[in-house]
Order: sequence, then C-alpha cells, then structure tokens
Amino acid sequence: MRIVRKKIRIFANGKFNHLNHSKMKLRKLFVAALLFVVGTTSAQQMPEVPVDKDVRIGKLDNGLTYYLRHNNTPEKKANFYIAQRVGSIQEDDSQQGLAHFLEHMAFNGSEHFPSGKMLEYLQTIGVQFGRSLNAYTSIDRTVYYIADVSTERQSALDSCLLVLRDWSSGITADPEEIEKERDVIHNEYRMRTAPTMRMIERALPQLFQGSKYGYRMPIGKMEIIDNFKPEELVSYYKKWYRPDNQAVVIVGDIDVDYTENLIKKMFSDIKVAPDAAKVVDEVVPDNEQAIFVAEKDKEQQYPVLMLSMKRDPIPAELKKTMAYLVTDYLSNLTCDMLNSRFSELQQQPDCPFIQAQAQDGNFMQMARTKDAVLLICVAKEGKEIETMQAVMREVKRVHDFGFTATEFARAKAEYLSRLEKLYTNRDKMKNGQYADDYIENFLENDPIPSMEDLYQTMNMLAQQLPLEVVNQYAQQIVSADDKNLVAFQMEQEKDGKTYITPEDMKKATEGVRAETLTAWVDNVKEEPLMAEMPATGKIVKESENKALGYKELTLSNGAKVILKKTDFKDDEVIMQAEAKGGMSLFGIEDKMNLQLIEPAQMYSGLGNFSKSELDKALAGKQASVHISVKEDRQYISGRSVPKDLETLFQLFYLSQTNIKKDEKSMASFVNQMQMILKNKSLNHQLVYNDSLESTKNSGNPLYKLPDVEEIEKFDYDRTLQMLKQLYINGGQFIYTIIGNFDEQAIRPLIEQYIASLPAGKAVQAKDVRTFFKGNKVNSFEKQMETPQAQTTQIWMNDNMPYTMENKVLLDAATRILTRIYLRTIREEESAAYNVGCGGEINTNGSKPVFFITAQAPTNPDKQKIAEDLMVKYITEAATKIADDDLNPIKEIMLKQAEDANRENSHWMDVLTEWTAEGVDLQTNYAETVNALTPQKVQKFISDVLAAGNHASIVMMPTK
Ligand SMILES: [Zn+2]
Repeated sequence: MRIVRKKIRIFANGKFNHLNHSKMKLRKLFVAALLFVVGTTSAQQMPEVPVDKDVRIGKLDNGLTYYLRHNNTPEKKANFYIAQRVGSIQEDDSQQGLAHFLEHMAFNGSEHFPSGKMLEYLQTIGVQFGRSLNAYTSIDRTVYYIADVSTERQSALDSCLLVLRDWSSGITADPEEIEKERDVIHNEYRMRTAPTMRMIERALPQLFQGSKYGYRMPIGKMEIIDNFKPEELVSYYKKWYRPDNQAVVIVGDIDVDYTENLIKKMFSDIKVAPDAAKVVDEVVPDNEQAIFVAEKDKEQQYPVLMLSMKRDPIPAELKKTMAYLVTDYLSNLTCDMLNSRFSELQQQPDCPFIQAQAQDGNFMQMARTKDAVLLICVAKEGKEIETMQAVMREVKRVHDFGFTATEFARAKAEYLSRLEKLYTNRDKMKNGQYADDYIENFLENDPIPSMEDLYQTMNMLAQQLPLEVVNQYAQQIVSADDKNLVAFQMEQEKDGKTYITPEDMKKATEGVRAETLTAWVDNVKEEPLMAEMPATGKIVKESENKALGYKELTLSNGAKVILKKTDFKDDEVIMQAEAKGGMSLFGIEDKMNLQLIEPAQMYSGLGNFSKSELDKALAGKQASVHISVKEDRQYISGRSVPKDLETLFQLFYLSQTNIKKDEKSMASFVNQMQMILKNKSLNHQLVYNDSLESTKNSGNPLYKLPDVEEIEKFDYDRTLQMLKQLYINGGQFIYTIIGNFDEQAIRPLIEQYIASLPAGKAVQAKDVRTFFKGNKVNSFEKQMETPQAQTTQIWMNDNMPYTMENKVLLDAATRILTRIYLRTIREEESAAYNVGCGGEINTNGSKPVFFITAQAPTNPDKQKIAEDLMVKYITEAATKIADDDLNPIKEIMLKQAEDANRENSHWMDVLTEWTAEGVDLQTNYAETVNALTPQKVQKFISDVLAAGNHASIVMMPTK
C-alpha cells in the first residue's frame, strides 16, 4: 500500500495528465491576453469547458458523489475506485501516520469481509492483491481501487461495490489486527527511507514555514505507529471518512443504470452528522524573503538542488473554464522550452550540473493550495553554487528575453503531436485513464471534457496563442525576485567537508540578480533527416502464418520481416529487429565499451545531425528507437504513431548505418556515470544488486559495475565501430512490426529502408554466459543510516527444455510461491514489507537456463527467519501444493492472458520468441493453464531444485 506525495502528473496517466501542470493567479496582463483569445469581457464570464456527456455524475443526499462510465477497453472489464478527500493533513498531532495506517486496515477486516476474507474473495474472481487491488495515501487524499474485474458475472461486480461500501464506512479496525500491522508499517518505512526522504522530512518545517504541511508526511512518526490506541484510529476514521468526502468511480463494461441504482441502494443509508467537521484547505503562506535551506546526509550520492518559485493556484471557480486549459497549455510550453535549454546546456563540458529539470505543479509536489515551478538539479561535485547560479541565470534569461520563435515552433509542434496521438486513440482509452481524470475532477475540480472537445479546443488555442502570450505567462511564473523563492540544497555528509550554507545560497542568488544577460540563441539545422535515399531492395518472398496471424516477407538482402496488423491501439506501431552476435563477438578487453554501448547509441547523433540537432529535428514527431546488446544477440526497438512511421524507419536505418559521433553529448553522459560510480558504495541497492549479479554470473567482470577509474578505458571510437559491426548488416536481422499500419503503405518503406541494407555474412554467436553452479553463499555487511537487510535466494537449472508448458509451469510456480511467502514472511512473521518470487528463462546462449528467484527487503532482526522460510516453502512446494493456492492463480493467469491478447507488446514477445526460439507461447495457452495440477507444478519445482544449484545473497546492516 503506497504512500505518494502529491501526484506528479505524467503523460501516460490520462488525457490531462500530460496536458498538465499549471494553474495560476490570473494577473492583469495575462487576463488581457486571454480575453483577446477567447473574446469575452471578464474572467468570470470565461466559457465553461463542457463536461463529457458520456460520464454520468450524480450525488446522493448524504453527499456521496459518483462517476459512472461505460467503456470497453479493455474488453469486458471494469475498474472500481473510492476516493477520499482526506489524507495525512487532517491528522491531529497525536495522529501522525494514522491516515496511512487506516488505509492498511481497510484490507484487514471490514463489515462484510472479516480479516483475510476480502483478499481471499477477490482472488476467486481473478483480482490479485498489489497489482489490481491496492490503495495509496497522500497528504490530502486516500484512494482505494479494484481494477480489471471481469464483467461476465454481475454478482462479482455487486461484490466489488460491497467492498467499496465497506471501505467507505465499514472498516472494523480490530485491535488485534492493528497490533499485527504496526510491524508491517515499520517494514514499509524501512523500505522507503532513502537519504532524500530523511532530508526532506527534516527540512519540511522550514520549507513550509507557517503551515501544517511541514509536519504531515503520510508515513508519520514511528513512535506514534508503535503506541497509538485503537480508539485514536477509529476517531480519525469516523471523523473524516464520510460520504460527503467521498466519490465512487466505476468505469468499464457496466450497465450504468443498474449500477447507479445499486449505489443509491447501498450508500444512501450512510449518515453524516449535521455538525461533521469540514475539510478545510491548509494554507501555505507567501514568503516575502527567500527561504534557503541546506541539509546533509551520509548516504546522499550526489548534490541535489530543489528550487521552487511559488504562486497561488488558479482559483477553483476558474478551473472549469477555458482559463484552466489556457494556463495548462502555457505552463506546458514554458517548462518544455526551459527543459530544452537545460538539456542543451548539459551537453557543454563546462556546465556545472549534470541534470536540470523544470516542472510545474503543486508546491513541493505536496500542497494543493500553492503552485510552483520547481527546478530539480543534480550538480557536479563541488559545483553546487555554480549550479544554482546557472539555473537561476536561465530563469532570469527567460524572464528578461522570453523564448525564441524557433523554440516556440518546436514546443508547439511537440504539444500538438502528443495531443494528436491521444486523439487518434480516443476510442481505445482505458478504464484507468478515465477514472484518473474523474478522481481529479472530484478532488481538484479539473475539467473533464470529451476527447473530441479537448482536441478541438486545444488546437484552436494553440493556433491562436502567439509567442508573446507564452512569454508573458512565462515571465510571471518564473519570478525574478526573492518573493516566494524557496531553495533547498541536499548534499553528502562527509568528514572534512565544507558544506553549503543558506548564506552561500543567498549570496549566489544576489550575484545572479545583479548580472546583465544576453538573449538565448537557438541553433537549428533546417534539413531533412535523410537527405539522400539509399538504392531500394525488393520483397522477394511472402508467406502467411494463420495460427499466429502474421505475414512473413523475405527481402532481397536476406532480411525477414514479420508483419502483424492489429487494432488494439489506434496510435501505435511497434517494431523490433534482432540478429545473432551480441557481446559474444567481442573479448573482455572491450568490457567498458560493451557496458556503455547502449548509451553510446543513445547519446550520439544520427546522419548529419548531432544529438541536440536530432532532438530538435524530431520535435513534433512521435517516433523513437533504442538498441540493446545481449550475450548472443543484438536488438533495435522502436515505436511511433502511424503518421510518423516513415520517420521510425529512417531512425532504424540511420541507427544501423550512420551513427554520428558527438563528443560533447557523450562526455556529458560519461560525467554522469562518473558521478554515480564515485559514490556507488553509498547506494545500498546498487551495491546489493552488483553483488547479486556477481554471484549469479560467477564473478564475470561484464556484470560488475565498473569502478570510477575504469571508465577511462571507455573508447568512444572503438564503441562506434562495434556498433557498426553489430548493426550494419540488415540482411542478418529479423524485423517484427506490430500495430496500426497500412499494409500497402508499409511495403515501399520496407523496400526503401530495410531491403536496402547490406546482406552481410551469417555470424556465429558463442555462449558466453557464466552462471554459477552448485551452492553459493554471499553474505556481507554494510554500514547504513536506516538499517534494512536484503535477502535473495536463486535456484537454477540449465537442463530443461524451453517449451510453452515449462514457461507456464515456471510462471505458476513463482506465483504460488509468492502467495505462500506473502502469507508467511509478510503476514505471519512481519519479516518483510514485501516479498516476491520471480522466474526467468535465459535463452541468450546454446541452451535455456531456468531461474526461480525469491527476494525481499527484510527487517534485519528477522532476516534469518525470512531466508529460512524461503528455502523451507520452496522445498515443501516440491512435494505439496494446495488446490487453494493453485486455483486462484490459474484464474488470474487466464484473466491476465485475456488482457494481454489485446496488447501489441504481448504479441511482440510471442512473435519474437516464435521466430528466434521456435517456441509458440500463444496457441493452447489457456488449455495448458487449465490443465495445471498441483502434481505438475510440484514436479516442475522438484526438477528445478534437483539440479542442485542454489545461491543465497544476503546483505545485513553493520551493527
Ligand atoms: Zn502502506
């Protein structure tokens, strides 16, 4: 059960979440510009954004709000949510942490589902805890959900509504269950406590001067978690969980009328006392003087600066109007253009920061009553003050001169291109995307227009808003004075070091304020991505695979192309190319080059374009590629929207033939790496994973993180040569293309950009894997600020055939083990907050290798218990598996397969496994799952264990 800070809106989550970011106090000048655009006479008369008519919104007499929408993506599924307008900010001082604690109790006993029964019941209808059933608590909201419920049986849907009803007012909060949960919360706290978390927690009261926000991190205080009386929790629950603070959101293949009636029947009797406490917004005051805060922590790997420029959010009454859409758009463009400048600067060798990022949203991503442009920067060591000055200088430059016409044109094109992508896929929006929007509408008043209206409106606005308006807006949100400036520096605590002080930060700020700057110059290359076309090749042969539904083309250079046209997403084409060779073509002397070969492609240019010229040239296009090099083969993967398919082909072609050296860009990446590696020992997870990989691969240096000095051995020229050797012979590759493409239009592209590549000679790949054998124990200690143990157990068998049945058995075995481990290690012993078991079939060599891996971050005092139980229960499962453990996971596997069948990425896996390994993972999948028996799974686990290869990797905090 997660704790989130105020959500950072991201593109993938829903239609607004990308259109994103800003709200603001409308100042005079801006209002004038806005009125000019929309042609009304006052902000109050701003046209309202029409609400999507396909969502039914209602409110019961007791104040409960509901949103219902029929939707058919994914098919025959529905999602259920209950959003509470309350979180940790409503806690009293003596209740810190209880909002989140209560969220945990919601799964541990309620009116209709006594302890343990809710998870048990939901599993029988294919709902898996963690994945489709979960909740999160933040400062001002608590949201519970059940996702992807099959709509085949109405009774299952009714039961989900009953669960929501229990969450709304029927949580039992049994004292015995509370007692058990205290440890779970401790484990969660341990798991989440990173150095930045510790510093933010300490700094919060200063950052939020004069506001309760400074004292309400959702995880709360551990002394309260350990000692609070059950009545305290119940009192928070009764006071704040009430229908007038709640919204039920249901989206999916539902009967809306029926569901509405049921909600009325089930929720209307919940009463709200007339004197019930009001949810009052917690104010974050303005600060007249800048606030400078510096913090340090022994485990901080690199210096981080968070610089906020606060402002009041757009007033609630304007949120439903066009004003919101306009500010949202302007804010998006401002951050986008500022970020482009940062990334260009980053590529200069003398730039003091290795990363700087601007985003707009709630102040510190927490407070809904204050917005801010936030700059998050990672400085080079010793360059903290220069970094602060460098980013402030860019803010000032924007303030003084604005953005240029070419920057604006690119940012606008990029915005419209993303909008277009969403619009193209409007008929296939997923249940979760709609639900997220409705939850924002309930909690934050965000508008919820139809995709059609949004598209028309935003296009119209983008056409009409000139650069001057964007610049005026930018000038207002990136302030040039100290009012509402909040700067927070985090750095490593180390003997003999001089630390940055608030005084240093103040001086740095004054220094920049006094500078005279010149305007930004935007260098752009105005030429096509590919100026000359290669001589085309031909499609020479064609066949069809009816069972898996694809066409196979053979090209004149020998390349194979697998084409599968789908209608799962209207805005997506994905493409992958694969050939034999990989790391096995090179020796250990190329270790550093192999370890950086993927970044070497990513940070280089293509054709005539340097990296930053390429980024600019691709603005407004939705197409991207990346490479990966495995032990015995190499891949290129990419994706695009249908209209940018030719660009995708060009990116593939250039990546295979013409990577352009870009010393500056690559040097900036190497810089970042050095920084991470220099203090790698401070990052426990990095150290642990490194040690784990080393054990798994018998100390093979290719799988060890390099030391910072080793980076010197990276030879950029040599790496570019290696890339060419791996990729230029397109005739050796199999290309798989899946998605919404036009079958006739794609053929000339294939002949132009794939058939034109050199044929090359067949390559023999070697098996270079060096997995461990026998019993291995790797146990070590590490100094830590927040003690947290790590435990991993790996079982390996390299003598089993790769078949669909074995893949299914591996999957079933690890799911069953996860259930057993959660029940015992998490629930009974409270030894870990989370524990899981995963499977892998490694096929990157001469024979398949099977792995079962159990893993948990554990309470140090109970590490040994967790480790012993991992071994005990897998050994037991080799001879005894209960039907009760197998049946629900069969249900879940079938359900997930059904969903996966409508995902392009699933088909990419299926088709590439089929063409590369000759294993059909699709046909008869359901039959194979249905035919699973405890005996079969037992036998499989017993076979894996029989190989006698077991590694145990344990990290303990130094006492
Ligand atoms: Zn939690």
